[in-house]
Amino acid sequence: MTAAKLAGLSVDVARRTLAARLKESGIDSPELDARLLIGAALDLDHTGLAVHGARQIIPVEAGVIESFAKRRIEHEPIARILGHKEFWGLDLRLSKATLVPRPDTETVVEAALEFVRSNPIFEGEIRIADIGTGSGAILLALLSELHQAIGTGTDISCEAIATAELNAERLGIAHRASFIQCNYAAGLSGFFDLIVSNPPYIRSLDIQTLDAEVRDNDPHLALDGGPDGFDAYRIIVPQAAKLLAPGGGLIVEVGYDQSRQVSQMMQAAGLTVPHPPRADLGGIERVVVGQQVGL
Ligand code: GLN
Repeated sequence: MTAAKLAGLSVDVARRTLAARLKESGIDSPELDARLLIGAALDLDHTGLAVHGARQIIPVEAGVIESFAKRRIEHEPIARILGHKEFWGLDLRLSKATLVPRPDTETVVEAALEFVRSNPIFEGEIRIADIGTGSGAILLALLSELHQAIGTGTDISCEAIATAELNAERLGIAHRASFIQCNYAAGLSGFFDLIVSNPPYIRSLDIQTLDAEVRDNDPHLALDGGPDGFDAYRIIVPQAAKLLAPGGGLIVEVGYDQSRQVSQMMQAAGLTVPHPPRADLGGIERVVVGQQVGL
């Protein structure tokens, strides 16, 4: 399929042509992807595509569709091609330096909200830190739910920090969010009521076995947890134990086989682990919660 071939076709025919091409290339959801890519190229939503089904594609649009199609055929995820992804009902911009936020990570948000709601110490302002914030997904989801909260996100990547700042701005919560470029929690001081993190936790040697869409497109800095996958927790857990206010919570995402060891690391750092790990929608123990002793 070339740009020249698409130009002059109707939107409907171009969509079907692209869907057939994606299917041929082994893409799992060709119809949906074709609709999303053509919609983005023409700036039309679902309804817009239906309404304008008979209008002709002009050459400049055909060029954009073709470049999107090439990327998708090379298994670049739709969210990366479109440059944004929905997380916790928020539309987040992405960049090369950020993971595409996963539905699994919404389990961190759920666990943090439950922690706040079940701990009576959280009456006034809540101070949140998000270590390795990426697009800002977890922090911004929490700030969107907890109107009395303020938060700081850290990331080692300047590009990720810029993306998270842009997202805070676009969501109208920049006045309650600040971002610091640093390694894990190194740039944080003072006390936090909640510390959240989805750190890199994949064993270095396992990166090659990940789904190609993840392996070839997500930043390895955000995935690679070192030889045994626990490098980030060895840094974050002791840092958090020093930064948590009395009664405060450390809420972290973990890999499918890591919850027991991370719970033990939290206990070794002096935190209590008040309840078993929280499972994600696939039933995997996904989130571990630790609590600083109270006053
Ligand atoms: N859940 C991601 C994956 O399986 C990994 C994210 C991370 O390392 N924090 O690809």
